[in-house]
Amino acid sequence: MITDVVIAGGGPNGLMLAGELSLAGVRPVVLERLPQPSEEPKANGLLGQVVRMLDRRGLYERLSDSPEPPRPNSAYFMFGAMGLDLSLLADSPVYALPASQRRVEQVLQERAIELGVEIRRGHEVIGLSQDDDAVTVAVEGPDGAYDLRARYLVGADGAHSTTRKLSGIAFPGITYDRMTVRSAHATVPAGWVDSATGALNVPGHGAVLPFLPHRTEHGGFSYAPMPGHPPLVSTTEWDQPATDAPMSLDELRASIRRVLGVDVPLGPPDGEGPHALRRLTGGNTRVAERFADGRVFLIGDAAHVYAATGGGPGLNLGLQDAINLGWKLAAELRGSAPPGLLNSYETERRSAAHRMVLNAQAQSALIAPGSDVTGLRELFTELLRDPNTVRRLAELTAGADVRYDLGEPEAHPLTGRFAPDLELHTPAGPVRLAELTRTARPLLLDLTEQASLAETLALRPGQVDIVTARPRTAGPTALLLRPDCYVAWASASPRPDPTEIGTLRAALQRWFGVTHSARS
Ligand SMILES: Cc1cc2nc3c(=O)[nH]c(=O)nc-3n(C[C@H](O)[C@H](O)[C@H](O)COP(=O)(O)OP(=O)(O)OC[C@H]3O[C@@H](n4cnc5c(N)ncnc54)[C@H](O)[C@@H]3O)c2cc1C
Repeated sequence: MITDVVIAGGGPNGLMLAGELSLAGVRPVVLERLPQPSEEPKANGLLGQVVRMLDRRGLYERLSDSPEPPRPNSAYFMFGAMGLDLSLLADSPVYALPASQRRVEQVLQERAIELGVEIRRGHEVIGLSQDDDAVTVAVEGPDGAYDLRARYLVGADGAHSTTRKLSGIAFPGITYDRMTVRSAHATVPAGWVDSATGALNVPGHGAVLPFLPHRTEHGGFSYAPMPGHPPLVSTTEWDQPATDAPMSLDELRASIRRVLGVDVPLGPPDGEGPHALRRLTGGNTRVAERFADGRVFLIGDAAHVYAATGGGPGLNLGLQDAINLGWKLAAELRGSAPPGLLNSYETERRSAAHRMVLNAQAQSALIAPGSDVTGLRELFTELLRDPNTVRRLAELTAGADVRYDLGEPEAHPLTGRFAPDLELHTPAGPVRLAELTRTARPLLLDLTEQASLAETLALRPGQVDIVTARPRTAGPTALLLRPDCYVAWASASPRPDPTEIGTLRAALQRWFGVTHSARS
């Protein structure tokens, strides 16, 4: 028996992919080597476009415990520990969702199970081989070793990916060995916290804004108050002596003294754990040489890792890899994928990964110690008075500047971009675009005067969902969305002319393999 897709790794990205495949009618098997979910504290939150993407699948509501849609941060953010004044922008691209990695994994696992995914815990991928028809995955399970045949194998098995290594895919990049990051959940004196802004007022030093890295010439400091949990306090320093001693709060206190020049009396964390207390030396910025090898694909940390500056790009990239690959792989398995669709996974996600490398490296350079870097920062501070610069950097750090090259330079400016969340009136009542995309189906949104695109195109049932509506504000008059919510085609005309209908037909064919019936 051949399974359609085996996913190696039941971390956030593997679980997201499992859900996406299931929405598209494919039943994957997830192999996760850990018998129980990991308690290791990792991500504290999601940042950037992924927050809006989760809303497109109804997952934002689950993670935020609120029916409200995500709202952008329109006040203040940071780039390389320098202020980005988002109030200069008419619409901020920076979205954030505080949520622990454990919680993200829980929600994604619940959803995968609801959708019927089989998750095998305690099953480790230890070998693989490919032939023309399938991949044979060698697995070590609780009851011994066995083989699993699958049409495709996706390595979502993290930075040290066995799948990547077994496939012979190199992982070139840079290892930074000069940087030491120390973090701990700890209490801070209650009187130091500004109840209005959440800032930590450090006597003798000044205010440190919450969640945002704060640079001095001796290193970095950050203070992240998590709702319902003790704050996470971190420092970054360079060229620290090597040590094997276990990390302690005293070590973090001493590091804060070196970085800020004053004492911060940290106390042990209270409340429910697990609590972080860690020292990480060095870091890697690496992108896999290939994201695919025959019937094997890589997503998430298996495909790319970044130095931890810049507000958590890890899940912003990885979860969107999963969403990009899911519908394409499902179409390939159904036999409905047009030529080149599956290859576009690598092209599109590699370019998104390279933007994040640029982001991470530029921010690392700007937070480094030394007076030369201070000079560079002064120059940047001047540049950051220009709203256009603020927009570019805010979009870069949020991963919102991704425009996939759909090969049509003259197309509508939204083509290749993540669709905006339009507010619409439909015959069934008001709805946001984000609520129409939860089934992960191709969607043609017809806002034209005559609402006659369905009739003009004469599509066969089930090929593409078509929704007619009236927009609540001015904007595009028609949009063709891929299941990952990127715009495959758009129009600004109240009555698209035959040329535009021709480009719409071409987009339907290119992305969904829709050929036209005699009637059309
Ligand atoms: C300290 C820290 C803080 C971070 N903070 C943030 C943040 O705030 N925001 C953010 O976006 N990102 C953050 N990241 C990055 C984020 O945690 C990663 O990008 C994310 O975990 C990657 O998910 P993944 O599913 O690709 O891989 P992983 O989370 O590494 O999951 C891989 C899974 O595969 C399993 N596995 C491995 N090998 C095998 C095998 N051979 N067979 C079967 N299963 C296998 C593993 O057990 C694991 O469960 C942080 C990372 C760290 C270390």
